Amino acid sequence: MSVTGLHRSVLPTDVAVAGNARHISAMASPEIDALTKALARLPGLGPRSARRAVLHLIKKRETALVPLVAALQAVERGLLTCSVCGNVDTRDPCGVCTDSHRDAALLCVVEDVADLWALDRARLFPGRFHVLGGRLSALDGVGPEDLAIEALLERVAGGGIAEVVLAMNATLEGQTTMHYVAERLSGSNAGGNVRVTQLAHGLPVGGELDYLDEGTLALALRARRLVE
Ligand SMILES: [Zn+2]
Repeated sequence: MSVTGLHRSVLPTDVAVAGNARHISAMASPEIDALTKALARLPGLGPRSARRAVLHLIKKRETALVPLVAALQAVERGLLTCSVCGNVDTRDPCGVCTDSHRDAALLCVVEDVADLWALDRARLFPGRFHVLGGRLSALDGVGPEDLAIEALLERVAGGGIAEVVLAMNATLEGQTTMHYVAERLSGSNAGGNVRVTQLAHGLPVGGELDYLDEGTLALALRARRLVE
């Protein structure tokens, strides 16, 4: 993409934020202004909801602002990427990896931490996870070496895993990644004693796991099948 094209594509948001910032700075201190702008950049929030959130935090200083600051600081100070599975937690290995109630023989491979959290929301998957850290994408220049595929092969080669569930998104790139990982697993697993399964069809095409309700996710997991 050309520099000009890039500028053109981000311009409308810039204008909206800048316009809004001017509006805020006329009545708020620089600190409140900075907080509002930081919140407005969060996914799912825009300038209007950011202003509402800031007003709420100011009004409910003791019950909303103080606990939020403490929670943010605790996460910021302790934020770690799990060296085993790639999950984000304040412990390494993470809470999922160290949970002894989980079936260590079941391993679910997901694209992103968001997918892990989606599947783990209601304990839908009783095993452990492996986060690839993205999906193969020629368009975005993401190749196999950019994903935690070697780490996955090493984990499986380490033994003790009976089934690997490939829980990629039902997008073209997700499915390309799924087949690539399945091939690498079968190539490295000469003994063939590890089942490689995929989520059942019925996931909406183009569907991202993070956006699915728990019922749909549970069905897709329960009816998983061998990767062909
Ligand atoms: Zn972990």
